[in-house]
Formats: sequence, C-alpha cells, structure tokens
Amino acid sequence: MAVAECIFCRIVAGTSPSVELYRDATTFAFMDIHPVNEGHCLVIPRAHFVTIFEMSSEDFAAVGATVAKLAGAVNKALQPIAMNIVQANGAVAGQTVSHVHVHILPRRAQDNLLMSWDRFRAGDPLAADPVRLAAIAERICAQLAG
Ligand code: AMP
Ligand code: ZN
Repeated sequence: MAVAECIFCRIVAGTSPSVELYRDATTFAFMDIHPVNEGHCLVIPRAHFVTIFEMSSEDFAAVGATVAKLAGAVNKALQPIAMNIVQANGAVAGQTVSHVHVHILPRRAQDNLLMSWDRFRAGDPLAADPVRLAAIAERICAQLAG
C-alpha cells in the first residue's frame, strides 16, 4: 500500500481528520473513531510500518514510551477499573489497518469485551509438554543470540 493511501499516514499528515491527543517527533496519538469503550485511543509511529517487525528497537521504544504516557493520562482522566494495551500484527491477529498501532482500551466492569482466546482452559497437554516447550524456547533463544 502506498503511504498516500494509508489512513493513519493521512491522519499524521493532517490530510484526514482525527481527534488528536498527542504528538512528538516520532509518535502520534488520537481517539479511535469506533471506540469499543469510553476513552479507547490509539498510539502510532508517525512513519509508516505495516507491522512491528519492520521497526527498529528505537522506533518501537518510542511508541512504547508514548503508550505509557497516554495510558497513564487515560487512567487518571477516566479512572477505568482496568485497561488492556493491545497491538495486532497481521490479519489473522485482528489487524485491520496496515500501519502499526497500539490500542489503549479502558475497561469497565461487565463491559463484555472478551480477549478472543480462552485463557482459563487447562491447556493442550501435547503443546504444554516440557520437552516441547524447551525445544521451542531453544529456537527462540537461538534467534535472540544471533
Ligand atoms: P485493528 O483492528 O487492531 O487494526 O484496529 C484498527 C483501529 O483503527 C480500529 O479500532 C478502528 O476503529 C480504528 N480506525 C480506523 N480508521 C480510523 C480513523 N480514521 N480514525 C481513528 N481510528 C480509526
Ligand atoms: Zn501509514
């Protein structure tokens, strides 16, 4: 997708409207246009990255710092009972806008917003096998070391 066609790039450039909350040299924050709860907002890098895997650790850290700033402000302003910080990479993960964004999602009691996986299930005994976990960890650690 050309940057000119990206809705979040257009918002950063000021050629599409947004309810802006914050901007600095590398990040931008604004209200989500379809809030799933009061105070739902987004933090994005100003530069166009489709997923976090194209970002440098410095770019990612800058987004993280703005997320922390905004989440703290939303928490103080709206005093939700809890908050999710959510970020999707890829359509299967739920990404609908192809420009990295982090959702700041205040939670209310009985708001019926569900994380889509069952975090309370006992687990797949095969997948949870300690030998298998160790083998997967070894592959990840090899990448960290490389
Ligand atoms: P995701 O499904 O994680 O890719 O989230 C995309 C989010 O962007 C959704 O919550 C949309 O409501 C939000 N969104 C899409 N277009 C706009 C826009 N023009 N202004 C603000 N938020 C938007
Ligand atoms: Zn973009």
